[in-house]
Amino acid sequence: MKDLRSDITSGLKPVTGYVGGRFVAPTGAEIPVLDPASAKPVAVLHESDAGEVDAAVSAARMAFRAGHWAEASVAQRQKALLAIHDLILANAEELAALETLNTGIPYSQTKNMHVPRAAQNFRFFAEFINQDGGEVFTQEKGYMSFVTYEPMGVCALIGPWNMPLGLTAMKMAGALAFGNTCVVKPSEITPLTLSRFFELIHDAEILPEGVINLVNGRGHVTGEALSAHPDIDMVSFTGGTATGARILSALAQGIKGGAMELGGKSPSIVFDDADFDRAMDGALLGSFMNNGQMCLAGSRLFVQESVADRFIEEFTARTKALRVGDPFDPATEIGPMINAAQVERVMSYVESGRAEGATLLAGGASIEGRDGFYIEPTAMQAESNALAICQEEIFAPFATLQTFTDEEEVTERANDSMFGLVGYVWTADLERALRMSRRLATGTVLVNTPIMRDLRTGFGGIRQSGIGREGAKGSRAMFTEMKSTIVALERPALPRMGTGS
Ligand code: NAD
Repeated sequence: MKDLRSDITSGLKPVTGYVGGRFVAPTGAEIPVLDPASAKPVAVLHESDAGEVDAAVSAARMAFRAGHWAEASVAQRQKALLAIHDLILANAEELAALETLNTGIPYSQTKNMHVPRAAQNFRFFAEFINQDGGEVFTQEKGYMSFVTYEPMGVCALIGPWNMPLGLTAMKMAGALAFGNTCVVKPSEITPLTLSRFFELIHDAEILPEGVINLVNGRGHVTGEALSAHPDIDMVSFTGGTATGARILSALAQGIKGGAMELGGKSPSIVFDDADFDRAMDGALLGSFMNNGQMCLAGSRLFVQESVADRFIEEFTARTKALRVGDPFDPATEIGPMINAAQVERVMSYVESGRAEGATLLAGGASIEGRDGFYIEPTAMQAESNALAICQEEIFAPFATLQTFTDEEEVTERANDSMFGLVGYVWTADLERALRMSRRLATGTVLVNTPIMRDLRTGFGGIRQSGIGREGAKGSRAMFTEMKSTIVALERPALPRMGTGS
């Protein structure tokens, strides 16, 4: 584990942009990139300023107009997407190690889940475009109407720090599959994996110049320059709700759209007829996978009264027993938080929970005596869903537990949220599961399973969790313009204006 960390750290180059098929010289403002397990800088990011963002957008526009990609056959696009799939898998260990180094997410998760998932995104869209088509309508006598989906043009893809490769790969795979060119902006906190990913694609000469471009830097500098750029056609964004609102305002100036994958505070409802052990395992995974830093975390738990004592007791004991440590250690279940600000934020929620009358069941403190940004996985019991710890996204290994009496009551409390990303239901009663699927105000409902993502279905939120869906037809809607063509087949009689008849 020490070797993997030092091997990956020793090979790091300065992070720069990639514009028109070339890495940019390292001249931009310097921002340190940290390893959250040691709190030490491991690399330097050179920030892309507005000029570099402009060059990246121009390169993407020129590549789009040249048509080598947008007008390539589906077979050619499939070949490239599958080559990227293979490239990710061939370099899985390096990419996973970079992801772990930069995010603090356990290597067991980046290696076995995130990186294979990033590859799968490219395979999925390669297969989807081979089967996907437009629609034809023949109901209007004398006409044939058809709908085709055309690439949008230049897509700005802006990603967060909590799963940099997997979430941005999803956007890149979708944008490219439908014939777009793109400018990618990773989080300035976690630029390492995507930088290496671009280098791998460059070396393998998979895509024509300018089809993918990379800019790096802070949100208010690079991110704003990109989302406000007049020559982008859309933004696909994953990140915080407040940032999503800013980006939407910028897009509104140009009457452009954006797809927003934003925050969540997802309820996980355990009914007393559920398989207790599976619900327990699922609730722990839903709260603590990915260091709890997951948009879809099911960390707002509701447990039915008749099983609540037993559930809360076991959940508390297992939360206390979670192994917190070096994310490269195979035994580690929870790594460090992303940065010091996040540690402070979590601690402020422990305080606010206490002040509002919640009971601390487990954790609740930062771990002193270690260099990195470590905290104890935390669980608090709350009497009311109105508490800040039940309403606001904490984005950390922090679960809240509430008890409930019946379906009516829990539905109302689960839906009492500004977010609406995922609703988790644990029950053995099929009819109840289907009723809850209808009643929960969320973009996705998962029944008796944690964290399952099926790319054939759309993933995304309602309310302040976002706009749009990622996956299959959801990504198509995001990355294409629908065009309708209506053809007269029988020369229908037309009123002859201006003839006086
Ligand atoms: P963030 O909003 O702080 O940053 C996300 C990205 O936006 C970064 O690349 C950042 O540099 C950029 N950015 C910031 N200000 C910008 C601006 N004004 N214009 C353009 N870009 C700007 O989010 P984060 O802290 O990196 O990520 C955590 C958040 O992401 C959480 O709220 C989480 O729920 C959300 N998230 C959502 C999903 C989902 O699918 N719904 C998935 C993962 C994370």
